[in-house]
Amino acid sequence: MKSLRAILILILMTVFATASASADDAAPVEIRTPEELIAIADNPEGNYVLMNDLDLTGYDWPSFTFKGTFDGNGHTIINIHWTKVSDETQVTYDGNRKTYDTHFAGFFAILDHATVKNVRLPGVDLFVENYEGDCFLGGIAGYATESTIENCEVSGTIRLDVTGKMFGVGGIIGYGNGVIKNCKAEVTLVNIDLDAKNRDEEFLGGVCAAGYPDIDGCEIQISGFLSDHGYVHSGGLVGMYIVYPKAFKRDGYIKNNKLTGFITFFEDNTNRRAYCKESYGEVMDWYFTTAGDSNKYSFKRDERKKYDVNLLPHGECKNPDFEETKVEATCQDPGYTLHTCKTCGYTEKDNYVLSAHHFPETYETITESTLTTQGVGEYTCSECGAKIRKALPTLTPVPTATPVPTTEPTEAPSKATTDTINESKSGSGVWPYLLIFFIGIPLGVIAALLYRRHRIKKLKRLRKARRAQAARAARLHKESDD
Ligand SMILES: [Zn+2]
Ligand SMILES: [Zn+2]
Repeated sequence: MKSLRAILILILMTVFATASASADDAAPVEIRTPEELIAIADNPEGNYVLMNDLDLTGYDWPSFTFKGTFDGNGHTIINIHWTKVSDETQVTYDGNRKTYDTHFAGFFAILDHATVKNVRLPGVDLFVENYEGDCFLGGIAGYATESTIENCEVSGTIRLDVTGKMFGVGGIIGYGNGVIKNCKAEVTLVNIDLDAKNRDEEFLGGVCAAGYPDIDGCEIQISGFLSDHGYVHSGGLVGMYIVYPKAFKRDGYIKNNKLTGFITFFEDNTNRRAYCKESYGEVMDWYFTTAGDSNKYSFKRDERKKYDVNLLPHGECKNPDFEETKVEATCQDPGYTLHTCKTCGYTEKDNYVLSAHHFPETYETITESTLTTQGVGEYTCSECGAKIRKALPTLTPVPTATPVPTTEPTEAPSKATTDTINESKSGSGVWPYLLIFFIGIPLGVIAALLYRRHRIKKLKRLRKARRAQAARAARLHKESDD
């Protein structure tokens, strides 16, 4: 009996193991709409693939923790709009390994053993205003642990105005670790410390504000603006390289990266540190290799000593005067409005529209539409030659009117009209039955009634004749008797 139970348990375990294995191998969930994208928040451990470009205008992007795989499939997401940071917190460590329960925001607020790849986020506009608390922002993720970010692109502005003790802004991630590989960021990063009285820890980096990510083959263009009444840790790639928790050691790498740009900052602090370097501002643990000179830098460290005016992009232009240029979307890239200051040359982009092919009105019919089924037409992009097939609408029935005689030569009927006409002909098959029903039956009834009347009259005449005949016979009989 016991052995039977053991065998049963073994069978059940095998079934469950097979089931869970096939769930892992299952095809990714395909995403085609903003609603489907936002619904990832409800099932954050899933495996997803983006099937087309998405415009999130009008949607509020949720800040959530993602634990699955998201494959952007080379597609673009534009106009992501955030209003809040994550409810969930993660522990962050400052240079003294003091810990903070910290909130996050990014395309994914938190990545936990997750993979994000092949997604393009142009024109990111993530601005968290007047935040009270500890907070990090990043283009792909506010926080990442044991996660991989690969072949992703971010451009736009990420800004945090905050009253807290521990905060920062990064181009790809805010705080954390994992692998960041072959990513591109062209970002304006702004971090303003709103509390001038208390010293805090502020971080900023083109790839990561603080943490120990492995970074390989990334191309970063940074415009950094950092205003702090505390301790500044900033770098073109990483603000502070720190391995945590305490006593944890590992060998990492930062290699093959290309950095251009600048960080303009002030550190309002008599106990000055003012970390700002092209590569990594402060290094807590040198448990990583830079693989020789494989990183390429073109960077400007721009420290200011005036502490009463926060540093902002275009903040120093004396006479701002913008002109707008509309940059049309191409087959590959989104379009946008370019704002250029005529005084100083500073530029900003907004009003993004998705990349689009240029399809003419005409198409080649692959399958013709009928009254009940949609046909298929193939359009060819006039710019790149790409072909796409679209469903054609079903034909609309044309009401059949009595043809008006005309002396004008009539055009040959279009294909659609011919089809419609054919359809109407076959549709007219019910008319004979209707005619029989509405005219034939009443006529039959009338005929029957007339025939009945005629028979009754004939009978009456016959009876009358017989009665007359009988009377005559009786009369004759009486006469012969007399
Ligand atoms: Zn200007
Ligand atoms: Zn095209």
